[in-house]
Amino acid sequence: MARYTGPVCRLCRRHGEKLFLKGDRCFTPRCSFDRRPNPPGPRPARRRKVSDRGLQLREKQRARVSYGLLEKQFVRYYKEAIRRPGVSGENLVRLLETRFDNIVYRLGFADSRSQARQLVRHGIFAVNGRKLDIPSAQLKEGDAITFTPRGARSEYFKIVQEGMRAKNPPAWLALDAVGMSGRVAGIPTVAQGETHLFNENIIIEYYSR
Ligand code: SF4
Repeated sequence: MARYTGPVCRLCRRHGEKLFLKGDRCFTPRCSFDRRPNPPGPRPARRRKVSDRGLQLREKQRARVSYGLLEKQFVRYYKEAIRRPGVSGENLVRLLETRFDNIVYRLGFADSRSQARQLVRHGIFAVNGRKLDIPSAQLKEGDAITFTPRGARSEYFKIVQEGMRAKNPPAWLALDAVGMSGRVAGIPTVAQGETHLFNENIIIEYYSR
């Protein structure tokens, strides 16, 4: 599956806020946004007023970039969200949050979603006892996430195990920091503000024009 491979810190500067795309580095003085919060490229001669449509676009881009998705992939999530019964915005949040790579990241097995995606691709995680190496796979309530035997033997496993006690996943995920496993204990909802950093309704409005 295609993905964005350009400089990620540039995305934070473009969007005018920290999107936390680089794991631990985002919380250190090495964060590019903290050092240079201005947008990349030459400074515009004058500041233009941003239209409502422009603001909606920004919100959509912010969400898309946070999950490391390309436009085509993100549109697919929107289409699926409006196709499903219920509130489209809620559906969108649910679809994005229950991606396998996002859950690995949320559980604390990876520092960022891009790292989670890479680890999943390397086949070091299993869902319900079977190896799963598809980052976009949708997990459902009750699914159990563990390391595969190969993953548990890896150097990475030892490194991540040391820092697990400090991890604090959202309420809809259950983490066993000692057993190095997690479970989807519920369904992510918009009301759990901790789960996402964007306004899903603005995104639905953006696409439905
Ligand atoms: Fe964004 Fe993290 Fe880079 Fe800072 S270090 S600019 S928060 S990706």
